[in-house]
Amino acid sequence: MSQLRFFLYTAFSMVLAASAVGPLAAQTAPSASTPNSQQAAPPQTPKTPAAPTRADILRGAYGPYRANNDLLFYHLDVRVDPEKKFLNGKNTIRFKMLKDDTRIQLDLQQPLHVDKILLGTTELKYEREFGAVFVDFPKTLRAGRVYAIDFYYSGNPLETGRFGGIAFRKDPSGRHWINTACEGIGASIWWPNKDQWRDEVENMQISVSIPNDLVDVSNGKFMGKTDLGDGYTRWDWLVHYPINNYDVSLNIGNYQHFSDHLGGLPLDFYALPEDLDKAKKQFAQAKGMLEAYQHYFGEYPFKKDGYKLIEVPYSGMEHQSAVTYGNHFANGYLERDWTGVGVSLKFDFIIIHESGHEWFGNAVTAADPSDMWIHEGWTTYLECLYVEYMFGHDDAVKYVNGYKAKVKNAAPIIAERGVNAEPPQDMYFKGALFLNTLRSVVNDDPRWWKLIRDLYKRFKYKNIMTEDIVQFFDRKTGKDMTPIFNQYLRHTAIPTLELKFNAADGTVSYRWKADEPGFAMPVRVGKKDNWQLIQATADWQTIKSPLTKDEFGVATDLYYVNVDKQ
Ligand SMILES: [Zn+2]
Repeated sequence: MSQLRFFLYTAFSMVLAASAVGPLAAQTAPSASTPNSQQAAPPQTPKTPAAPTRADILRGAYGPYRANNDLLFYHLDVRVDPEKKFLNGKNTIRFKMLKDDTRIQLDLQQPLHVDKILLGTTELKYEREFGAVFVDFPKTLRAGRVYAIDFYYSGNPLETGRFGGIAFRKDPSGRHWINTACEGIGASIWWPNKDQWRDEVENMQISVSIPNDLVDVSNGKFMGKTDLGDGYTRWDWLVHYPINNYDVSLNIGNYQHFSDHLGGLPLDFYALPEDLDKAKKQFAQAKGMLEAYQHYFGEYPFKKDGYKLIEVPYSGMEHQSAVTYGNHFANGYLERDWTGVGVSLKFDFIIIHESGHEWFGNAVTAADPSDMWIHEGWTTYLECLYVEYMFGHDDAVKYVNGYKAKVKNAAPIIAERGVNAEPPQDMYFKGALFLNTLRSVVNDDPRWWKLIRDLYKRFKYKNIMTEDIVQFFDRKTGKDMTPIFNQYLRHTAIPTLELKFNAADGTVSYRWKADEPGFAMPVRVGKKDNWQLIQATADWQTIKSPLTKDEFGVATDLYYVNVDKQ
């Protein structure tokens, strides 16, 4: 998702810290750092996460009544009344039982009302606890069999958070403009589903009934619209691929449509009438973005659904095959130089970032929010790849290092599993800097390009955890990469290269100081453009060097590390 949400998070943390700075503090320009003088970040008090609540555990845990079934298909069929801000509809949920049982867990948040839940014509009993809806069956459902239930619901959903979850707004001309963006708060804020990350449907139908004068853009391929004869029209969309619950979206407004294509891939764009000319100009960047990502990772993952870019009133979101956009039709991020090093203004941050999620986030998906760096760290790294493809390697190195100023190193990137915990925003910036470091560790670009392309192919349409990625790297490189991943993802601090100079002998001694036992990582040292690769470990080793303490550098723009010269 976009970092806007994290501006809020940052603002909130800073209020707690009694700091007088506002939400934009996260964007201060990076301080100049030379390879020789990279300083350790100032120590910060680690945040103690609050104990998970019962509601968080119900949302976050992959409990027995979730694990006993495998989702196959949803048909969400919902009627939206913009005047009353009211939803009314049903989700047909098809699933396969993985073990014999009489109960499954679904989710629908208050104040939405469960109207009834049917298995065929049989009305099922259910119990609600916070957002969870436990559905009970009169007879045991058998392992291996497929069942479908119809979950009817209605009500006025809660609008919450900056993106609104589901927000009933008006466009600048006063017409209805209704959008969903519910990552974090959860899709069950506006429709009933199995609201977790591990299990996805194989495909999905979305039917949205709205007043005749409005347009709905949802995920998947547009299948057609039907006039219902009562002032409402139903818009039908078909998603041909697995999809996250939070990616499922409504975008209802007075949208104007224009289209293009890239090879066989249909590109569909939606903007408000008054923004149409600006959109036609700015959305042209989608082609270069697609070409760049296809260069590194192969074909756009949702080809049958096409690629859509849709204007919305918030900054943007990676809704699968229906990416939303609210970046003012200007380069940079909300008209600012996002990484502060003069590169961001060459492209539209929201088009590049949110669309990058089609590869990492939507095609390759984390199985628990704890490991959300798989979405955000990778996609932030994809921005760097885009910069490298479009503007060259020097700009890419500048761009990724511009992110250093945003890293807090105050808590590990990977959060607690199974409790609906949201990782710190370091998962974006430190995540990208870590992947840039990993490229330097591999130290062979053709091999690196093949590794990340193969990784993407291996996990496309799958829901994975960090361990899957580490195992992949271990196997493909034939090395134990676990300590490196652990240091960057499961500890707070980055590693420090300690250097001791002995001018009389003309030697330099070096070792890593890190939290992870057995941490070892090669690193380039000496003189820029003529780096020397050393295999540093936790034990002191010594090399000869003609360079003085001041002259002796470390390639800190290629490896995200601290340097401590003694
Ligand atoms: Zn994102």
